[in-house]
Amino acid sequence: EAKRNKGSGVVVFSGAQEQALTRKHAIERALVSSNLEDEMYTVFQPIVELRGRRIVGFEALGRWANPQLGEISPMSFIPLAERTGQISAISRILLRKSLTALKDWPEDVYVSVNLSAHDIANSESILRLLGIINESGADPERIDFEITETAIVQDFEQAKTALNMLRNLGANVALDDFGTGYSSLSYIHRLPFNKIKVDRSFVAEIESSGSSFKIVKSLLMLCNDMGLKAIAEGVETADQLRVLRQLGCNKVQGYYFSRPMPAGDVLPFLDSFDAHEAIEAANPELKR
Ligand code: C2E
Ligand code: MG
Ligand code: MG
Ligand code: MG
Repeated sequence: EAKRNKGSGVVVFSGAQEQALTRKHAIERALVSSNLEDEMYTVFQPIVELRGRRIVGFEALGRWANPQLGEISPMSFIPLAERTGQISAISRILLRKSLTALKDWPEDVYVSVNLSAHDIANSESILRLLGIINESGADPERIDFEITETAIVQDFEQAKTALNMLRNLGANVALDDFGTGYSSLSYIHRLPFNKIKVDRSFVAEIESSGSSFKIVKSLLMLCNDMGLKAIAEGVETADQLRVLRQLGCNKVQGYYFSRPMPAGDVLPFLDSFDAHEAIEAANPELKR
């Protein structure tokens, strides 16, 4: 806790806070001075279809390896880049790299790319993303865009226009971290989403908390009724997978199957991964 010295107006920080702040400032400076094109890259986490027992796609997650600062988490650089306005340039770099990776994958495997508020905040930035898709030659139907609620609250009408542009191209649009915000429910029927990603906080508590279980159950039923595809995020254990299967969830993602991997590992992973084995291991009583 930062303490304000009585009357002096001076804010006194603890050593740890001061270090965090120093790193934050260093990251902000590095965002401006670094060669982001070279230093930013994406890692890929498989999305598994349970009924089909196969990997249907990979989520692309941004990473930043800076020579001075080392590996920087997207949880720290994305919010900073959103404030400095560099997020759009970063999103373009990461989209380009994700689509380059996609070129090497089997045709029935898609890539899911995260977008920020800025990326959908005006038609020009959306048009630039559409330009990148066009240049890459990628089939837009093999691209999902993940958008969190916080990206929408800023300008609902503009978000709607942006999402429609992506859908009209043939891409899929997923509401990310579903259930964590204040207006998820109103967004899914007022915006052209065709997928939702159930937030991992619910999955983490699916066995320990009766209410998380009921929330996931209801969300899955709602998605089913509304014709939305649901993906459960953050599946870490066989037990969580078992419960999700019982609830009829068809798509999952999480450390239980794999951590995000570098682009070069994707094809070997597709070759060696035994989805049937991984899924059935979580459900011995259903083994045939
Ligand atoms: P997200 O889009 O919800 O991505 C899922 C996050 O959960 C990723 O963290 C992933 O590594 C992590 N994760 C996956 N499976 C598990 C699991 O089983 N257990 C746990 N505990 N975590 C799991 P990451 O890569 O650190 O990304 C964090 C967030 O940063 C993302 O959340 C997304 O909101 C944002 N982000 C990441 N890459 C990008 C990007 O390229 N652009 C934008 N705009 N945002 C990004
Ligand atoms: Mg995501
Ligand atoms: Mg998410
Ligand atoms: Mg998240």
